[in-house]
Amino acid sequence: CGQTQSTKVDKNVVVGAYLKAMETNNIEEWLKKYTSTPQTAGTNFPMVQWCRDKLEQYGFEATIDEYEIYMSYPNSSALSLLTNDSVVYEAPLVEDVLEDDPDTSGDDLVPTYLGYGGNGNVTADYIYCNYGSMADFAKLEKLGVSVKGKIAIMRYGGIFRGLKVKFAQDRGAVGAILYSDPGDDFGITPANGYKTYPDGPARNPSAVQRGSVQFLSFLPGDPTTPGYASKPGVPRSDPFYSTPRIPVLPLSYRDVTPILEKLNGYGPNVDEVIPAEEDTSSDKFTGELPGYDYSIGPNPEATLNLYSNQIFNITPLWNIYGEILGENQDEVIIIGNHHDSWIKGGAGDPHSGSAVLLELARGLDEVIRTTGWKPKRTIMLASWDGEEMGLLGSTEFGEYLADKLQRKVIAYFNLDVATIGPNLEASASPLLHELFRSTLAKLEYPKGGSLYEHFKAFTGDRITNLGSGSDYTVFQEHLGIPSIDMGFISAKGDPIYQYHSNYDSYHWMEKFADPGFTYHNLMSKLLGLLVIEISESDMIKFKLEDYSSSLEEYYEDAISGIPSKWLEQEVSLMNMHVINGLFANRVSSGEFTIPRYLQTCPQMAEFGSVPTSHHHKNTTFGDLLGSASNSLKQLSNTTLLFDDKVLLVQDQLNHWDELSLIQKIKVHFTAKKYNAKLKYIERAFLHYDGLDERSWFRHIVFAAGRYTGYAGQTFPGLREAIEDDDFDRAVKWLYIISQTAKKVNFNLSV
Ligand code: GLU
Ligand code: ZN
Ligand code: ZN
Repeated sequence: CGQTQSTKVDKNVVVGAYLKAMETNNIEEWLKKYTSTPQTAGTNFPMVQWCRDKLEQYGFEATIDEYEIYMSYPNSSALSLLTNDSVVYEAPLVEDVLEDDPDTSGDDLVPTYLGYGGNGNVTADYIYCNYGSMADFAKLEKLGVSVKGKIAIMRYGGIFRGLKVKFAQDRGAVGAILYSDPGDDFGITPANGYKTYPDGPARNPSAVQRGSVQFLSFLPGDPTTPGYASKPGVPRSDPFYSTPRIPVLPLSYRDVTPILEKLNGYGPNVDEVIPAEEDTSSDKFTGELPGYDYSIGPNPEATLNLYSNQIFNITPLWNIYGEILGENQDEVIIIGNHHDSWIKGGAGDPHSGSAVLLELARGLDEVIRTTGWKPKRTIMLASWDGEEMGLLGSTEFGEYLADKLQRKVIAYFNLDVATIGPNLEASASPLLHELFRSTLAKLEYPKGGSLYEHFKAFTGDRITNLGSGSDYTVFQEHLGIPSIDMGFISAKGDPIYQYHSNYDSYHWMEKFADPGFTYHNLMSKLLGLLVIEISESDMIKFKLEDYSSSLEEYYEDAISGIPSKWLEQEVSLMNMHVINGLFANRVSSGEFTIPRYLQTCPQMAEFGSVPTSHHHKNTTFGDLLGSASNSLKQLSNTTLLFDDKVLLVQDQLNHWDELSLIQKIKVHFTAKKYNAKLKYIERAFLHYDGLDERSWFRHIVFAAGRYTGYAGQTFPGLREAIEDDDFDRAVKWLYIISQTAKKVNFNLSV
């Protein structure tokens, strides 16, 4: 048991040595290296080796892990505007070369394209569909406007880009264009007097946002290997469950202007024809593109010819891992960021994270060398491949080692865009909130006060719930491993982040986003302190009460949407069959039995115990609501007590030398027992059949929003059932929530 008194080097000494190491700042060197060549997934093996060597040099046991993944690469594309069948404009589809910025020129620039976009050559009418959200398409439908047979032009923002394409394709669009509208630049625009990059903080008019158009909220990872790892020889399925068939292209605001201008005066401006009192969506259709009046079109005389051809193949991708073995190798902390990028630079995405990860490696190495420290728990650094195309490397890794990871991993810390401004934000499992906040309090903010004071001022002390869009997804939402994602971002007034464009460059970072790399350095400190704290504390640093109170909050919010007609509705025998079947399946010897890891991990058996349903005659939906809400309340009481018990044990461990032998034995075993409960608690919130329609997502509390992708959805099963007006499914999810709360409550009480 590695969780008792045996720390050889005091934690404060470890922290001190780490912070000392961070007095040197190597970010500039790492960033220059990482931005020296394009890091397109599957093409950057030299950099992969360099990173592996670097980790080795810092004393990590380093490995390269290869997967064979279905990818798309740019081949050729074209976009022309025709009026009355003659070409009047051809979009250049390239970004401007800037003299000041070497990352924007050379023969190794990455073309502007959208990963996994379909191949095709279409000529069609086009209309403007705003952000391409469900609400936007609903408005168009209300006005009798259909995108069927047309090309949908949508602006970036709001939801994940791949879902925009999906929603357009589902409605019959034959192609799609995504562009960056100045209206989404928080007022940092030429219209407001701001100069554009490289002369100022505004977006360069030629900047294009590349990106993946995978249907992220349905299936991350390799589209052809849903739920299992892309190792050589595995069977492959049709990729179109999670990637589009239609051709798509990304455009800059400069290049979309001649196209959208042609719609002026054709079709309504949606904001003008939908009366404010009937408008339930806060997203206005009108942006700030100069010269365009946001008429949706179509213009019967204007058509687009959209051609996109990509090369699809199955190709090796490489994750890199570095491990320092802890005293207890059954408890592992993973810290990851991705190493693939969309462009040659990628100073912010992902290399602010890549650079910080190397600083962490350097710092931990220095601690070990100067103090003789051996971490209590194993620390693993991961540099993921293929994040940009669809969280490929992390997802395949998570699927490959699912059982082992679920048995061993305490927490996953994610970095991606680690620093592009001075404002800290974070998303995390509530289990990690306390750890995060208490660590912030130990660091100083460059503009004064503590980092925690800054965080409170910037976010209102809000740590948001995880959705998707980066590599934590498989850990939190598929494997039930508590995760955190954090970064220093830009906010209102700061230079615009020219995301996935050539201008996310070293020069931009150094000149505009983080001169002196102060915030990179602060992120390196924060990450190190988090890692040391979670590795070194005897009792795993989770606060359960934060989890249960969040559950109550999410639940209240989710059920506020329940139609009142349901409350008195009786839960039928049919519902009960479904419910009983849900849990009965688990123990039958059929295909879907007890998840494998439960069989290999005895500590978890309790969490996996089969709930029994008790069917009273005339149970109404309202009764079920009451029962679920009671279960959650009880859980809150229990977690409060449990947190106290854990603190007490930690306190006893702190005074180990003062304990009698009998007390030592007792405390030792209590600590072990409580740590096992803490370690597996998040796993208890998985439902192994997954969400309806998107079974890869198995967490009953956290998932990517099905219609948002990036933004998370809490209690997704229940919420989606309510959204779909599906009574039977709502009953099912209420039952699952209530039974889960009961089993966790039971486990923590014994
Ligand atoms: N971070 C990537 C993006 O937002 C993730 C892409 C994906 O998950 O498909 O574009
Ligand atoms: Zn990224
Ligand atoms: Zn990215």
